Amino acid sequence: MIEYVTPYFRPPSEAKSFILQATIGCSHNQCTYCAMYRKDEQRFRVRPMDEIREIIDAASGRGEIGGRVFIADGNALVLAQKRLVEIITYLRERSPRVERVRMYANVGDILRKGVDNLRELRALGLDMVYIGFESGDDVVLERIKKGAGFEDTVKASRMLKEAGVMNSAMVLLGMGGVERSAEHAEATGRLLTASDPEYVGALSLQIRPGAPLYDEWQRGEFTLPDKFRMIKELEILVENTDLTDGHFFSNHISNYLPIKARFPGDKERVLTQIRAVLAAGDESLLRPDYYRDVINQY
Ligand code: SF4
Repeated sequence: MIEYVTPYFRPPSEAKSFILQATIGCSHNQCTYCAMYRKDEQRFRVRPMDEIREIIDAASGRGEIGGRVFIADGNALVLAQKRLVEIITYLRERSPRVERVRMYANVGDILRKGVDNLRELRALGLDMVYIGFESGDDVVLERIKKGAGFEDTVKASRMLKEAGVMNSAMVLLGMGGVERSAEHAEATGRLLTASDPEYVGALSLQIRPGAPLYDEWQRGEFTLPDKFRMIKELEILVENTDLTDGHFFSNHISNYLPIKARFPGDKERVLTQIRAVLAAGDESLLRPDYYRDVINQY
């Protein structure tokens, strides 16, 4: 039995978690900028429960399962409620140290689950899901085939709040291209304000071979904003983002200007920092380009 179909992905903050690959690939697998699950062997499928049990047994026998578990791959929340409950319950039986479970989720998965099912998962330890918002601009969301628009994303975010599951939202600077740069940044800020996630990770788009966007870019149909335009987007994004109490990070290695802040308190400080960099227009204040060359997008 193969415990991991590779490559598999997890958020940087799950580096110390045990990764349980209960599904392979992503059930959506259409986002035009995404090259994560394009190999044949990563075609979406759900692992049989027997196999999942075997993996948990083997890993707990090796003492590998600690307090934190990340259920992979791309959107494990797509699993049927009964199956998810079965998996997490078995995990906890075999590894009583498990305190919390997290996973990636698509907006559609959350809407389909509904508040009651989310509450049931919360009670079993699901304390946070990671969602790729990417943009708040419906024109961009349509173009990149995200499968969810502004309103649905807000609705899903409200369900999470009601169920007590934290929301970690990722947004992508540059996703509107040069053409919709300002609209994308402004609408993304508005989406964050309306969704009010506990965590926001702003990443900068990287165009990767294997993603449909790569071909669009090669044909000249998509132009990536340059580094200062990306930072301008960050400024517009922050201007339009109001969070009740949220962590805002742009410290992912894809970014030119790393920021770590807690909103609302740090918002003005962050804006001052971004504006100073924009006013100076000095590349030496930015992270060097080679950082972006060596990383995975998530
Ligand atoms: S970005 Fe996420 S939802 Fe979209 S195809 Fe990639 S893994 Fe699936």
